[in-house]
Amino acid sequence: MNAKKYVEKTFEEMKQRNDGQIEFHQAVEEVFKSLIPVFEKHPEYIENGILERIVEPERQLMFRVPWVDDNGNVKVNRGFRIQFNSAIGPYKGGLRLHPTVNLSIIKFLGFEQIFKNSLTGLPIGGGKGGSDFDPKGKSDGEIMRFCQSFMTELCKYIGQYMDVPAGDIGVGGREIGYLFGQYKRLKSTYEAGVLTGKGLNYGGSLVRKEATGYGLIYFVDEMLKGKGMSFKDKKVVVSGSGNVAIYAMEKAQQLGAKVIACSDSNGYIYDKNGIDLDTVKKIKEVERKRIKEYIKYHKDAEYHEEHRGIWTIQCDIALPCATQNEINEQEAKVLIENGVIAVGEGANMPSTLDAVNVFLQNGVLFGPAKAANAGGVAVSALEMSQNSMRYSWTFEEVDERLNNIMKNIYINTVKCAEEYGYKDNYVVGANIAGFLKVADAMLAQGIV
Ligand code: NDP
Repeated sequence: MNAKKYVEKTFEEMKQRNDGQIEFHQAVEEVFKSLIPVFEKHPEYIENGILERIVEPERQLMFRVPWVDDNGNVKVNRGFRIQFNSAIGPYKGGLRLHPTVNLSIIKFLGFEQIFKNSLTGLPIGGGKGGSDFDPKGKSDGEIMRFCQSFMTELCKYIGQYMDVPAGDIGVGGREIGYLFGQYKRLKSTYEAGVLTGKGLNYGGSLVRKEATGYGLIYFVDEMLKGKGMSFKDKKVVVSGSGNVAIYAMEKAQQLGAKVIACSDSNGYIYDKNGIDLDTVKKIKEVERKRIKEYIKYHKDAEYHEEHRGIWTIQCDIALPCATQNEINEQEAKVLIENGVIAVGEGANMPSTLDAVNVFLQNGVLFGPAKAANAGGVAVSALEMSQNSMRYSWTFEEVDERLNNIMKNIYINTVKCAEEYGYKDNYVVGANIAGFLKVADAMLAQGIV
């Protein structure tokens, strides 16, 4: 069958089978379109039904998560774990706790994770999970009881050789601690490699907290260097003020950039003097408050309601680090009118397909999520290595490995883009580079 027809037919069948799962359709569409030139060169992938198989999760789990709030009321949330592809290693991917979580969102994230994990060069398959539980405003006790209930069901399906969850939106060190404690209690075993993002005193890795943000900056730095530029003196805007955003800001500042804005889901702050990261960390990591608090400490700074307004600020480099579809076509155009030269996706699928096209057509250096934010999962895999060795590397050792991994992702992305006739298109390059390793492993392992 003709490659284009094969891809279109498989995409239509996937849409019918997963009716209404719009985020999942969006993620699949982007990857599938990039792969047409691959199928033209490699009919064996068509003959072995690689695309039909890769788009169907190996296993999908949905379960009830009952818990009791501080007032004694019974609450029920829905838990998810999508074990998408284990061709190159155990399923690996974060857990998201956010009221918007549904099957479509977890499937889009799990699908992306297959290719991202492959790009890291490390032996990890793709998976993702989470719940529609809203951690905002919950007490520590409520968070703990929710995590314990969630793990009571999830523990049946995970393990260091099977599926290794980590954090994502709403899941940081505190939540991983509660999840790990409950897993250990239920299984009566100290299986450190079952979760990543653990605390440093019980099997965590140095640099895991910083990894996604730092990795994003390492990747964007490679893109800039490839065109004879650097972060030095560049004006940078970062959406979000969570784990990815904070450490992206930190590394960008270390490389000489001036970060002038960041946000949360309520609004954004603009500080023409450059964001003071200690204040942001205090508000977000310690006090768990809203970003609006920043203007109490910095009188020159401005706060604006409506977080998407952040894309109207004039900047050289834009780093969306909050959530999916946070930059649309119109916002992409405004960024270009204001002179943006590079966009690096710290969040997963933060740009709509139309926005991506606007960036690519206008020659913006565009680092797609599965390449640019792969640093988090890469250091998670390094955490698994350290757990297996029962040994830990220093901050510098892990950071150097992370930096090398991000450089290699950039090199492979550029190489694949060129090889398949899409020079400077890192979307196509990353999709192809990630796909080839998984597809070849699937070919080698037969029809499973
Ligand atoms: P956090 O929960 O630490 O922070 C998320 C940030 O984004 C917060 O500032 C939050 O604001 C904001 N945000 C969340 N949802 C929305 C929304 N619907 N609209 C606007 N703002 C929103 O999450 P992370 O930093 O870990 O994750 C951010 C992104 O990075 C996600 O897309 C995640 O999938 C991706 N990612 C994370 C990795 C990791 O290692 N943590 C690895 C790779 C990708 P508020 O506090 O108001 O909710």
